[in-house]
Amino acid sequence: MKPQLIGGEWVTSPTTAPNINPSDTTDVIAEFAQADASQASDAVAAASDAFAAWSRGSIQRRSEILDAVGSELVARAPELGRLLAREEGKTLPEGVGEATRAGQVFKFFAGEALRISGESQRSVRPGVDVSVTREPLGVVALITPWNFPLAIPAWKAAAALACGNTVVLKPAELTPACAWALADIIQRAGAPAGVFNLVSGPGSVVGAALVEDARVGGVSFTGSTTTGARVGQACMARNARVQLEMGGKNPLVVLDDADLDLAVECAVNGAFYSTGQRCTASSRLIVTEAIHDRFVAALAERLRALVVGHALEDGVHIGPVVDQRQLDIDRAYIEIGEREGARLLTGGDLVSRPTAGHFLSPALFVDVDNSMRIAREEIFGPVAAVIRVRNFDEALAVANDTPYGLSAGICTGSLKHATAFRQEARAGMVMVNLPTAGVDPHVPFGGQKASSYGPREQGRYAAEFYTTVKTAYAFAG
Ligand code: NAD
Repeated sequence: MKPQLIGGEWVTSPTTAPNINPSDTTDVIAEFAQADASQASDAVAAASDAFAAWSRGSIQRRSEILDAVGSELVARAPELGRLLAREEGKTLPEGVGEATRAGQVFKFFAGEALRISGESQRSVRPGVDVSVTREPLGVVALITPWNFPLAIPAWKAAAALACGNTVVLKPAELTPACAWALADIIQRAGAPAGVFNLVSGPGSVVGAALVEDARVGGVSFTGSTTTGARVGQACMARNARVQLEMGGKNPLVVLDDADLDLAVECAVNGAFYSTGQRCTASSRLIVTEAIHDRFVAALAERLRALVVGHALEDGVHIGPVVDQRQLDIDRAYIEIGEREGARLLTGGDLVSRPTAGHFLSPALFVDVDNSMRIAREEIFGPVAAVIRVRNFDEALAVANDTPYGLSAGICTGSLKHATAFRQEARAGMVMVNLPTAGVDPHVPFGGQKASSYGPREQGRYAAEFYTTVKTAYAFAG
């Protein structure tokens, strides 16, 4: 049984839950202790106790601990990537890539720990000096989803710790193993007791307890828009700082002058890799008339050639859907799309493999209208909708006609249209001739509208969330 990490101790809980491999539901990775509200409270108490020493301690030591975490993550990326692929269902190369990225993120923030800066100014009053310094929030709760089970905990924890906060991490129920491995690494890298705590368990119990705890100064949440709204309201009710990263319905625009092969690759990668289970997935493919039929034919051919199967098998392009519940949602949306009058050109079938996994072939809808539910609601599976438009202006209008605003992409050879799209797309991230998914670790990540709330994550912008500024005045006499 894998325990919680509270105050530097590995602590068991009265109940456990199995962590099941979505590629083979007979494969139980481990039993994970399930915290309750009182263990969540213990973790917050431990983080509170550790805060003064951590926040005032040596930033050199802080940096070294983060660097050591990063080094171990990178060194163990093949093994951790395998664990990730086994518990979440990403393919092995995707899992190894994510584990490597988690390590790189820690190394970036090892540097940032030394660079937290302020400013010194003269006052408008003679003889008075003014300084503006960045201070940590205190205890921060990190609540994370299952689809990036290592990278998201890593990019939140590394930034929080670099800024001098202490942390309680509550990972998604479906993917506790990567979070557990991260906690073990942080602990062994020398983080003092209570600086980093891990409590696994149900969101409605453990997550809610953290969000409502008055000792928690900030909550960084990534997950669904519905849960995010609840977390946001609870934080605002008690004036806690909150950062919400939520869903997406990201457009990839393909214009007549696009490089066809490049556009197809952007669509395959953006919409279907990681089984479409990415907040940045290109679930709407908005295609102008002259290239539409060629694009759709080439994309459908590529999709039919993709191998769906066990995430750890060589040659598999698309792993399983994460669990039965998500598979039911994906299939329900496929039915909804057909009922709404869209045409399912390929995929959307259950795939039988030697192991009992949740395998679904990549589904491509054509003849989609942007008002249909499959074009408006986040599905979070290997399902994409092609929307035919007349020209760039209509493509841009359709791209922006969504409640979400995380990522937006365009494939075009026209500098004019690429520039206009970059300027006019209502999204936090814009991709030109690149998939909507796939971002760098050292620059801001986040969206607009229903996709995000609060400051950006990652890069040096992360400090906007994990610190608060203090303005100090001094009169030397
Ligand atoms: P989810 O909202 O179901 O769960 C997210 C986390 O919130 C989990 O740890 C869960 O246990 C916890 N939680 C649930 N109820 C809670 C409550 N009442 N109080 C506090 N915490 C609670 O999301 P999910 O299914 O794990 O993840 C998929 C979603 O995440 C998708 O919508 C996806 O778009 C989104 N996502 C967004 C980003 C981004 O950066 N914008 C990145 C990855 C995933």
